[in-house]
Amino acid sequence: MRPPIERTSVLVIGTGFAGLGMAVKLREAGMHDFVVLEKDDGVGGTWRVNHYPGAQCDIPSHLYSFSFAPNPGWSRTFPLQPELLRYLERVADDHALRPHLRLRAEVIAARWDEATATWEVEARDGRRWQAPIVVTGTGGLSRPQWPRIPGMDTFAGPSWHSAGWNHDAPLAGKRVAVIGTGASAIQVVPAIQPEVARLDVCQRTPAWIVPHTDRAIGPAERALFRAVPAAQQAARAAIYWQHEARAVAFTMYPGLLKRAERLVARFLAASVPDPALRAKLTPTYTLGCKRILISSAFYPAIQRPNVELVTDGIAAIEPRGVRTSDGVLREADAIVYCTGFAAAEHIAPFAITGRDGVTLDRAWQDGAEAYLGTTVAGFPNLFVLVGPNTGLGHSSMVFMIESQVAYVMDALRQMRAHGWRAVDVLPRAQAAFNARLHARLDRTVWNTGGCASWYRTASGKNVTLWPGFTAEYRLRTRRFDPAAYRIDARARAASPAPLPRLARTGS
Ligand code: NAP
Repeated sequence: MRPPIERTSVLVIGTGFAGLGMAVKLREAGMHDFVVLEKDDGVGGTWRVNHYPGAQCDIPSHLYSFSFAPNPGWSRTFPLQPELLRYLERVADDHALRPHLRLRAEVIAARWDEATATWEVEARDGRRWQAPIVVTGTGGLSRPQWPRIPGMDTFAGPSWHSAGWNHDAPLAGKRVAVIGTGASAIQVVPAIQPEVARLDVCQRTPAWIVPHTDRAIGPAERALFRAVPAAQQAARAAIYWQHEARAVAFTMYPGLLKRAERLVARFLAASVPDPALRAKLTPTYTLGCKRILISSAFYPAIQRPNVELVTDGIAAIEPRGVRTSDGVLREADAIVYCTGFAAAEHIAPFAITGRDGVTLDRAWQDGAEAYLGTTVAGFPNLFVLVGPNTGLGHSSMVFMIESQVAYVMDALRQMRAHGWRAVDVLPRAQAAFNARLHARLDRTVWNTGGCASWYRTASGKNVTLWPGFTAEYRLRTRRFDPAAYRIDARARAASPAPLPRLARTGS
């Protein structure tokens, strides 16, 4: 027998920064009739899933945290994964979110019902929910991208993706192949190098790497942040504007990055004396086109006697290891795929069916688009956190998420105040927004810097990044703008769950 449908006012999907941030603001507004679905067995999203050795955020902790939940106790300037996960768990506890959580609820489908103006959402185990409002916070980087290499399934030993580390397979004294040299790989390699017998690091494209400024935050500094919260706010503001300034080069004057490149190349030269190895590690695209990586440990690790940087292409995976295009078989006991995430292609997180039976995958078949990265024409009352073109190459995603959450909260407030039962962004508003957005993106380093990256689809459309300052995005999302929407103002007849009653709070 199918379990009964749980009805609620707002359904939030995901418990990373996005889902938790949304839930906190709903509660703060006095709206307690909401449910948060999470596919895992705990909160944390990307910071629960990515527990590979060395996992660390590349944005400073004072900025990579909620403005409304500062943590004076950060132990490092750049938090490691376990500390970030503890932080998010504490946010869930401090804001009494646990009763709202439905864990191990992997959403497989959401369908809009025009007659009742509600979404019906279904989990893999058959549980169902119904709500007039759905807010997805499923993450831009939540679906691991496995490469397509012939023979991958023939490998005799264990293999896994960085986002799903196999801690049961001991690496001490083993021969390991790491595939990829992106943000995850450059953290994994120095972390496992000391214990493995041999490490083959398979690089397809070298990355620009800048030195890390990570340091421990001592007890005195932490005591100061505890005693004087304004000191931490000032530190956060300084970090914010320092990062924000980078947008000038990334989005307006990519020529500046060519100059910065020379400085970064000096770091490479100082770190890697061997000219042949250095040449292999020198990128040919403009700094910033792919995400700039931060590490002071990768170059030293790659030069250890038990490590080899493999730049010949991978021809096949065989039972005993990796066969490169030069014909050499590099024997391995384990293979670790640090090959990133499916971010740009088919980013509908699960089957979402809107008005007239149109699926989000179909609406996004030429590349994902939304209005303000949050609402999609034909999908009423659906709000997509970390939606198309809300990603950043220069600052903290948590700032963008808080901007989006403020926009959604204002939408809910206005819907309630005016008795609207559905809001659906107008196709022309969405099209105008995207025409301008993509014209701006065409001037950025991400589109002009001569690289392929997960920011863009195979056809080159940049569907992930915001083309300007985060402050601009914050301003544009301060208020829900009904003029851009088709409003269904009919009374909600026998509504399965009323729209939330919301108190006005600053968000
Ligand atoms: P990524 O940056 O997309 O890197 C994937 C790597 O795998 C690249 O080096 C790529 O080479 C390589 N690769 C993919 N398919 C391959 C194939 N078939 N054969 C050989 N190599 C292949 O992925 P990621 O390292 O997981 O990072 C993704 C994003 O997650 C980051 O950009 C960042 O936004 C986030 N992240 C952040 C942190 C942090 O905060 N420190 C840590 C990890 C991840 P090509 O370059 O040639 O494609």
